[in-house]
Amino acid sequence: MTPQEISYILNELGEDREDYFNAVAPPIIQTSNFAFRTVAELRQAFEDEYKNLIYSKGMNPTVNILRKKLAALDNAEDCLVLNSGSSAIFASVFANVQSGDHIVSVNRPYSWAKRLFDEVLPRFGVATTYVDGREIESFERAILPSTKIIYLESPKRWDYALQDLRAVADLAKAEGIITICDNSYCTPLFQRPLDLGIDISLQSATKYIGGHSDVLAGVLTGTRSMMAHVFANAMQNAGNGISPFNAWLLLRGLRTLPARLDRCTATTRQLVDWLKGHPKVEQVIFPFDPSFSQYELAQKQMSGACGLVTIVVRAKKMEEIVTFCESLRHILMAVSWGGHESLVIPRCASLQPEAYDSADPEHRMLRFYFGLEDADYLKSDLDQAFMAMV
Ligand SMILES: *Cc1c(COP(=O)(O)O)cnc(C)c1O
Repeated sequence: MTPQEISYILNELGEDREDYFNAVAPPIIQTSNFAFRTVAELRQAFEDEYKNLIYSKGMNPTVNILRKKLAALDNAEDCLVLNSGSSAIFASVFANVQSGDHIVSVNRPYSWAKRLFDEVLPRFGVATTYVDGREIESFERAILPSTKIIYLESPKRWDYALQDLRAVADLAKAEGIITICDNSYCTPLFQRPLDLGIDISLQSATKYIGGHSDVLAGVLTGTRSMMAHVFANAMQNAGNGISPFNAWLLLRGLRTLPARLDRCTATTRQLVDWLKGHPKVEQVIFPFDPSFSQYELAQKQMSGACGLVTIVVRAKKMEEIVTFCESLRHILMAVSWGGHESLVIPRCASLQPEAYDSADPEHRMLRFYFGLEDADYLKSDLDQAFMAMV
């Protein structure tokens, strides 16, 4: 996809301005329902709830503008927008399994995907096997006759481990298995899973698409028949579509997505180089750094990487990491990412203090998200926090 095509999608596709006073910004059609003049028209609308404007739990004009743009960005036939990334995970998985089915998932997926696989689906007779997704053989070994879904997340949060999406898609197609890939890290600008043969691409639009830390949303893209299936077999029952106002915020976020990713990319590159030279930093993990263990695959299937970077700090005691985090003046300590503001989250926040083991590099991990601030502003904040570590 060329930058020209992306400009067209983000600025024009799906916008019929003559229908709304030639307003440049699309309208928020804040209505729950749509009225009909005749019974015949109403009856006809009921025949296809996936297409017609009846009730905003299903279809809404503001949401539909967004759906067109997000589908086009992913080279997809169709798209659904949900009220969170977790909703998108739930709906896409739930619509495609029944009792007795089996799922193969990459190990340690996003926490609420993991909880769905570990706690919720077993109550309905659906079991999950986790694999180290870095080798295709691990998928081959885990597949059973009852396997219905292969669930991927590439790159994964924290360690950015990749799966070879084309290889997994080819394997799954041969076995009649549906593939779902969480593409939140890359967005469609940096990776298009459907182009590599994946059936459903999924994103937390809370991250880069929204881009301003003020909206929760999730995106699914795929064939029209798959999207209609998810709509009718999970999404309408859960009632977890996006609201018109939140769809409008995502449309606004999309306008600047390429500019924001460019800015994040430049800043992240500078900070990765600087962190690699810092005496307090033992390792920098970033998929587009040549030291990354799957650098070649990253270069092959992704066209960019930015924002999220994990470091392993040299710290004997957990208190040093605590001091570092609490000394930061500009970089906020918070979950999520993809907004304007830079963030940090220490792995040790998920550990009981007595469990901290400095011999385990994972316990000394810090994950940064570098946002839209000036790179030197962030560097000096990091530097003074490193200095404060005892
Ligand atoms: C945040 C996140 C999700 C969940 O999205 P929400 O919008 O927070 O529900 C799913 N996958 C990944 C990789 C995420 O980072």
